[in-house]
Amino acid sequence: MTTIDQSASIAANTPREVHYDVHIDLDSCTACGLCEAFCPVDVFEMQGGLPVAVQPDLCWGCETCAGQCPTAAIRVNCREGAAPFADRPKADPLPTEKVELYREWSKTLKDILGLRWNPVAISLIPAGDPLPDVPIPKERLRYCQSLMAARRGRSIMMPANRHACPDGTAILGLTELPAKLASGELYILFHKLHDIEAAKRMVLERPCLEPRTIDATVVTPLDSAATEPQVIAVVAQPEQAMWLLMSSSYYSGLRHELNASGYNAQCVETTLLPYTTGKLNVSFGCYGCRASSDVGDDLMFVGIPVDLMPTIIAGLRELGSRAIPQSRNKIYLPPM
Ligand code: SF4
Ligand code: SF4
Repeated sequence: MTTIDQSASIAANTPREVHYDVHIDLDSCTACGLCEAFCPVDVFEMQGGLPVAVQPDLCWGCETCAGQCPTAAIRVNCREGAAPFADRPKADPLPTEKVELYREWSKTLKDILGLRWNPVAISLIPAGDPLPDVPIPKERLRYCQSLMAARRGRSIMMPANRHACPDGTAILGLTELPAKLASGELYILFHKLHDIEAAKRMVLERPCLEPRTIDATVVTPLDSAATEPQVIAVVAQPEQAMWLLMSSSYYSGLRHELNASGYNAQCVETTLLPYTTGKLNVSFGCYGCRASSDVGDDLMFVGIPVDLMPTIIAGLRELGSRAIPQSRNKIYLPPM
């Protein structure tokens, strides 16, 4: 096996202080160039048709290259077994009253709306903060896949090197956005937008956190949250999403200005917009999450900032006492 070992230096108990080696198995490499395109810090350059790690010291172990390589030709190892976050203190468990509150919210949402899936608690862990006691998966997952797994009952914490989608990883503040995604070039290559101007605009119009301000994403079923969530995601049928919108307006009468595009649904529309604006948002999903998860074609997504939850739960209880059962009983159907 032909390999190239490229030394790299990164993070200590932050990923940046750990040192990494990048191994490329040139016998498996098909010279597709995806590692060069997707490395967020330009470690690779194609030379003579083959990838070379020309800036190994910039590598910080996000493993985007390994995740994108179609032939699994790349391994990224931290040296001397110094795993990132090894000495990071663990966060205190949630206080009992919070655990009980989140369980109650989850039960109310499920019972009144008749949700099939668990509402999901989403936490973006700021760089340097203690990490909650939530399992890190062995496999790499897209952020949307982790959300879909959490609605089925799984609790997942993902630092950058467990994220499989370079777009979502950068949008959520775990890495830099790779240059060819930032320029829109890759969206044209993958036939997702008409031209480079449209692609650039789509990238510019979406929110994106500062690179490496977030150390990990955490998703858990709301009734087993392990840390304070910032956003609650509900996977719902349109009728259930409608009642959530009405619950949110029940005391104020306010209408909603929703922000959706079909691009970057779970990272931008369900998570980051509620996180950055403090407003509820509804998403129809995106081609990425629909292609990479088992979410049903009849389902959509509601992202709720946690601060709005008490109002929404109170409004939902009011609507659930009469309006929802009456509507579901079709009381306005004309006599046949
Ligand atoms: S992504 Fe993998 S197959 Fe493609 S050039 Fe890089 S190492 Fe080779
Ligand atoms: S993609 Fe990440 S792991 Fe791979 S070389 Fe670049 S920084 Fe290092």
